[in-house]
Amino acid sequence: MPTLPSPGRDGLLQALDAWFDDGRFAGELARRIAWRTESDGGSVPDTLAGYLREEIAPALQALGFVCALHANPDPRGGPFLVARRVEDPALPTLLTYGHGDVVNGMAGRWQEGLDPWTLTPRGDRWYGRGTADNKGQHTISLAALAQALRSRGGRLGYNVTVLLETGEEAGSPGLHAFAQAQREDLRADLLIACDGPRVSARQPTLFLGSRGAVNFTLRVAARDRAFHSGNWGGVLANPATLLTHAWAALVDAHGRIRVPELRPAGIPAEVRAVLRDVPVGGAPDDPALDADWGEPGLTPIERLVAWNTLEVLAMEAGAPARPINAIPPSAVLHGQLRFVVGTPWRDLGAILRRHLDAAGLPQVRVEVGMEAAATRTPVSDPWVRWAADSIERSCGRAPAILPNLAGTLPNDVFSELLGLPTLWVPHSYPACAQHAPNEHLLAGLAREGLRIMGGLYWDLGEPGAAPWRRTG
Ligand SMILES: [Zn+2]
Repeated sequence: MPTLPSPGRDGLLQALDAWFDDGRFAGELARRIAWRTESDGGSVPDTLAGYLREEIAPALQALGFVCALHANPDPRGGPFLVARRVEDPALPTLLTYGHGDVVNGMAGRWQEGLDPWTLTPRGDRWYGRGTADNKGQHTISLAALAQALRSRGGRLGYNVTVLLETGEEAGSPGLHAFAQAQREDLRADLLIACDGPRVSARQPTLFLGSRGAVNFTLRVAARDRAFHSGNWGGVLANPATLLTHAWAALVDAHGRIRVPELRPAGIPAEVRAVLRDVPVGGAPDDPALDADWGEPGLTPIERLVAWNTLEVLAMEAGAPARPINAIPPSAVLHGQLRFVVGTPWRDLGAILRRHLDAAGLPQVRVEVGMEAAATRTPVSDPWVRWAADSIERSCGRAPAILPNLAGTLPNDVFSELLGLPTLWVPHSYPACAQHAPNEHLLAGLAREGLRIMGGLYWDLGEPGAAPWRRTG
């Protein structure tokens, strides 16, 4: 329910425009991009703690937060920052989340003149590792929070807890255990966080959870060396033939999942309704969609966010770069299931085993790897309408509402472990090249993101307007 126009709210949005236009936002982001906080290299560099201690904590302390750096209970992950700003324990609490780590900088593979650790504007694109994922996004969010606090005369009307992790790009090791151990300090009533892409650059987006993902490996190891295909072909089973049949037993030639247990029972009506007009792709850098790919009878956006997919990530047999006349000794395929809420993903190994055995392929071994849950805050939750109205007031356009992101985030920590309604407001877009060379933030989108976040932080403090309810 929109509140009456307020000079204070408009004043805040103008202050945020100025924050962006006079270069203060770019200055702050440039400093953060310069931190080499790569977390996906199998080690925990000191820069992860440094980023939290020297870059983020001082900015939050200046706003009245009490900051604590915590070691990760899992040695594979970097530290956590928990910053709390308590105006009154009787007030409701907002939790926000971000990650200070980035993927490998891939220096040398960027366009001429670009360096991953130097924020470099070219037209509307601001290049640098982390500009989209996630430093640009948490910088937008925290800058908007700071300005909202000023516009409110130092009193928001609610408490705020900031959780920053530094292992997201390594699969968030320790995040669940940490959140479990710190339940009391992380107790809140709502999560609003910024990560992931909008559905398109122009379209403000609100998503309520994420699909889950399980990576797995199919392997056929027949013998310890290759044998000549002329001398032995026809009497030795070929591991690559077995492996390709195994995959074909799981997915048909149009990408449709053939394993009944791995197909959603259907798409809820309220999910169908919010997805009705949401486009997929169509921007200049986007690939053309394949019309005859995926589940028949669904729209592209339904296939993308409201259904499951099985993908081959990589496969190998023999030496593809230098084939020889031989039957390879083994074949391997790395696959992935992306799935929505309700899929029995914890049983994936057993489900694949049964299906492959039934297909007459007991030789194909199944190994389950990295896994992440799917979550979805109900579309009918009062916070969803509230946030959509707030976003529309701030930028003049209604957001697309996605029941979940197509990709995967550790949202189950917030929605399941901490029991919060979860609102994600992304400030990146699909062609941002996150995880690749030439990662960038769109300047226009960052400027609009500041307004959107400022409006949300303002509206949360409007007495009686925000649908706060205590989650306990
Ligand atoms: Zn990422």
